[in-house]
Formats: sequence, C-alpha cells, structure tokens
Amino acid sequence: MRNSIKLNLLISQGLFIVFLPSWLNFTRYLHPIVIGVVWICYTLAAIYIVYRLAQKKMEVKAGAMHASISIYGLALLVLLFFRPSDQSYGSVNLLPFETIGFYLSGEVNWFIAMYNLAANIGLFVPFGLYYRYIYGKLGLKRLLSICTAAIIMIECTQFFTRRGSLDVDDLILNITGVVIGYFLYSLSKEVFIMKNSRRQSEKPFESGPENIKIPALCYHVISPSPDPDNLYQLSLSKFERQIDYLAENGYTTLLCTEYLDMLNGKIPVPLKPILLTFDDNTKDFYPYAFPLLKEHGMKATQFTVTDWIDREANMAASELKEVMDHGIEVQNHTASHPYLSGLDKQDKNMEITTAGNTLDSLLNIRADFFAFPYGDYDQETISTLQNSGIKGAFTVAGGLGTYQSNPYELPRIVILNGDTLEDFQRKIHTGF
Ligand SMILES: [Zn+2]
Repeated sequence: MRNSIKLNLLISQGLFIVFLPSWLNFTRYLHPIVIGVVWICYTLAAIYIVYRLAQKKMEVKAGAMHASISIYGLALLVLLFFRPSDQSYGSVNLLPFETIGFYLSGEVNWFIAMYNLAANIGLFVPFGLYYRYIYGKLGLKRLLSICTAAIIMIECTQFFTRRGSLDVDDLILNITGVVIGYFLYSLSKEVFIMKNSRRQSEKPFESGPENIKIPALCYHVISPSPDPDNLYQLSLSKFERQIDYLAENGYTTLLCTEYLDMLNGKIPVPLKPILLTFDDNTKDFYPYAFPLLKEHGMKATQFTVTDWIDREANMAASELKEVMDHGIEVQNHTASHPYLSGLDKQDKNMEITTAGNTLDSLLNIRADFFAFPYGDYDQETISTLQNSGIKGAFTVAGGLGTYQSNPYELPRIVILNGDTLEDFQRKIHTGF
C-alpha cells in the first residue's frame, strides 16, 4: 500500500513536468515564482487524491503548516507585486461586482475571464484551510475580519505603489476563496490530519500529583436518529462536534490502564488527557462512533455486557474484534447488566467472573477494568472485584479523576443528549 502511494505521487510529479510548457505560459503575465505556487497547489491536490483513493491519512505537524503557509503567503505577495511586463495599472473600481460582471459578460475571452476569477478565489483557499486547522471552527467571524483587513491593506499598497489596481471585486473574490477553504476543511480532514505537536509537552511531575485531574466520559447510544426522550441517546452530529472539539484542542485519549497509572503518578501525563468510554456494546457504536474515533486516531473503552454480544441490538463478536484492532479496548460490564448491590456475594462474583471468562475465551483478552451497571454498587461489590483481579472500576457519579480517587470508584461524567457544546466543555473541565 505504502509503495503504491509513493509510485502514484511519483507519477503525478512526472505529469507536472510533462505539462511544464503550459505552466510556463503563466510566466508571461506573472513573476516566475508562479511555477512554485502552481506546483504547491498541484502537489497538495495530487497527495489528496492519491491518499483519498488509498483511504490513507497523512499526519501534518502544526509547525509544518505554519512554515508552508508562510512560504506560500510570501510567494503570493511576490506574485502580486512583481510582474514581468510594464502593464499599466492604477485603475480604481469601488463598485462591488462591476469587474466580476464584466468578466462574466462574455466581452472578455472566456479563458482569461475564468482564469482571473478562479485564480482570485483559488489562490486564497489555503488560508481558510490553514486557519481552520490551527484555530478550529469557532472563529469564522475573526477569520473574516483578519482576511478583510489583510486584503484591503494589500490592495491599497498595490495601488499606491502602482503595482496593481484597487478593485473591491478582488476583495470579494479573495474572501470567497478564504471562506471556501474554511468549509473545505471537512473534506480536507479526510486525508490531512493535524498532529498535535504543539501539545506534545507533558506536565512535569514537579507540578505535583494534586494538579493531575483527568476527565473520563461515559457515552451510551450514538445515533443519527436518537430517541429525543432518552437522555442516554446522543445525536451523531453532537458527538462529532464533541470529538472535533477534543481533536482541535489537542486532547490525548487514554486507555483505562494509562488513566489509572497517570492518576497514581506512575507514568507521565500529557497536557490534556481524557478517557472516552462507551457502555453496553450497543450496535450503533460500530457504524457511527467507531469510524469517527478511528479517523482521529482516538483510543476508547467499550464496557461490554457479555450476554448481549451478538444480540440484535448489540455488537457482534466480529465487530468487537475489529474495533480492538483500532485502539478500542473491551472491558468488563458484567454478564447480564444487573443491579449489583441487590445480588448476594456468590451472584456478584458470578456476574463479574463469567463476563471476564467470556471476554477471555471470545476475544482473547484479560479485562482488568470494570464499570458498574447503572452505577450501582456496594462495599461487597468492591471487595468481589478486588478478589477477582480487577484493577479499577468506574462509577457514573461525575467529577474528575485525581490522585485521591479510589481505584474502585473512579468517577465518570455521563454525556447526555441535551448537552450543548458549552455543557460539554464545562463537563470536561469541572467534571459536572
Ligand atoms: Zn450499562
């Protein structure tokens, strides 16, 4: 697979060279650096198409993005300010859509018209994309004001240095390009995902264990058509926004062992750690939540009720095996999902060990972590867990995990269908 990607990229570069005579036409009107700009755009498009077809992702570091956009921006400035021949400039158009209308009127050669319109839009698309990768989706207004100010400044400088005309339509087209880039992000992230290099630093232990606070989220059903009356059914679009929020803000997802080891100070803690858990192995997980988690390379935990495996409303064993190949761990959520505090000691033990044995024989795993069905437990439940070798158990009581958390009463925050993105942000910051 890797080799065929390389080969296709090589072929695309070959094609670029084959078409070099056509690219060179541009240098009649523009500074030779235009070849570089065309090459950047062409190569990015080629990478996108090749990776998309191979269904592969490319991780890009934030630093690489800053560098490329700076080089690209400089090249664009050269294009705007240094043109080969002494074409006469200095005209002014402040009437919106006059130039655009002129190009569309048919009075100009259609190729030149299209080229002018497309270039004025297309060359600005990378800025919208860049902004979205770096600042996330919460800033369209800010993006618009920044790029309006920048483009007006460029237009005016061009005019006063006699390097170009002052045309309000250029502004309209350029901003259109930036906005298109902003919205193309959802397509772009199918291939280019940002590596959180700016978040790689870890909290030094000197900051003290009392500063370690880790949210553990508890999800249930994730579906495009959730039952609005069921608190535990979250719409897919809301879930996607939450996952995007975590990805855009540099959160590192954990497995249960990592979560507990971090609370205990055994391993270093990333800057923004979070544990994502899903209860009850419901069948929606596989088609809806799983692809999103996989796309972002996020780890998560599936607390599985073993009697429910292969039932119509739940995931099949084959699906559990597949998600396990992509960073999802399967953990113990009893055999039949009872209220544990109401059972006698023997039945408690049976629920826990039967589930553990099933997971072992079916999926070949040792499930060390546990979630209480309905968040219900008593002291006897905890001692049963300890005796059966379970290392940690999760409640649904809310709050953040700290070094003081009891490993058998680890707090989880339940995400409900009415939660807005603001609720979500508050929950992961405060635990409630
Ligand atoms: Zn449950």
